[in-house]
Amino acid sequence: MVQFKDVTKIYKGKTPAVSHANITIKKGEFCCFIGTSGSGKTTLMRMINRMNSITSGEVFINGKNVNNLNPVDLRRKVGYVIQNNGLMPHMTIKENIVLVPKLLKWSQEKLDQKAKELIKLAELPESYLDRYPAELSGGQQQRIGVVRALAADQDLILMDEPFGALDPITRENLQDLVQRLQQKMGKTIVFVTHDMDEALKLATHIVIMNDGEVVQDDIPENILQNPANEFVENLIGEDRLAEAKHDTVQVKEIMLTTPVKINLGASLKEALSLMKQRNVDTLLVTDDDDHMKGYIRINRLEHRYHRASSVSDILESDIYTVKPTAYLRDTVDRILKRGSSYVPVVDDNNKLVGIVTRSALVTLVYNTIWGDTDPMSSAELSKHQKDQVTKGADDDHD
Ligand code: ADP
Ligand code: MG
Repeated sequence: MVQFKDVTKIYKGKTPAVSHANITIKKGEFCCFIGTSGSGKTTLMRMINRMNSITSGEVFINGKNVNNLNPVDLRRKVGYVIQNNGLMPHMTIKENIVLVPKLLKWSQEKLDQKAKELIKLAELPESYLDRYPAELSGGQQQRIGVVRALAADQDLILMDEPFGALDPITRENLQDLVQRLQQKMGKTIVFVTHDMDEALKLATHIVIMNDGEVVQDDIPENILQNPANEFVENLIGEDRLAEAKHDTVQVKEIMLTTPVKINLGASLKEALSLMKQRNVDTLLVTDDDDHMKGYIRINRLEHRYHRASSVSDILESDIYTVKPTAYLRDTVDRILKRGSSYVPVVDDNNKLVGIVTRSALVTLVYNTIWGDTDPMSSAELSKHQKDQVTKGADDDHD
């Protein structure tokens, strides 16, 4: 829907307000540009509808270079909501709402119908249509500003800190309204804010700006999980980071992908030598296609050594596994309660894809719940896991 290709904006005699931005906003997305004041959010947004000229690079709407579109048409086709709602004080609410459709020369009947529809969408009484903006509260005025942006059936709406001046409760109500309307009408929205709470509540796509540069561009979940740098971390805030980690870490992120395993058909001699070599006392058992079959333990192996000859003879198949996509918040208690020192991770076809060690879990849970200020990086985590695995598992498999 909107694409920025290597877009730079330099105001006369200044350092770049936006520098080499590459962003793709898809149809139906709620895209928030977030950053501190002066980071270039407004400039970036206003280049979409050519309210700001583009110094270098290209901006496309539906594949068309905006520089080839007539700027007046462009602005009529793209909705725009600003902070102090831009209502004309000498026009009634109705006249304000249907201003753009009127410019587009809609019939009077269609205009009347649209005005009624919109006041309903704004969740205000129809009688308000004949009032003047000053007769409405700030929040009510901004409701009108929001629905007016939806008035001319534009698919794309730009909103520049539209709720910045409102008190928190009014602000939340308007956030809910805009979210409902966007979902219902399938609009694409580009929304500038400096408030991370607002961005996280509304956005399906977040672009983080700092000093004219795009620092990170991703879905909110990924930004929470992997902030690009300290600037982003600060923007998110430590509390939220810890919370997000605990909430959204998946098994696959902390699993070790090279578990010590042995083939079902291997001999016990081979099993014993692998255990000695890797210094472990249990081995996961898989078939030729890596399907999870169970595990074997060293003590059983030693007892039956004289009678049994292959891994399958002493296989224990009642094994608790988890899926790589499972969330730790849902599995961690069960893993810890079972007392195993590790849990195998299997995919949907029951293929062994990794293991999660108990000690890695304990570390992670400890850090996220009790808020370690210096959380382990994933590299450190997997090194930690490796140490644990080669140190050998306790014989407490159930
Ligand atoms: P934000 O919306 O993130 O607060 P802006 O896009 O408004 O940031 O501003 C980015 C930078 O460009 C700032 O340094 C600002 O001073 C500068 N700037 C914005 N508009 C103009 C303008 N019309 N003329 C000159 N400089 C401008
Ligand atoms: Mg701004």
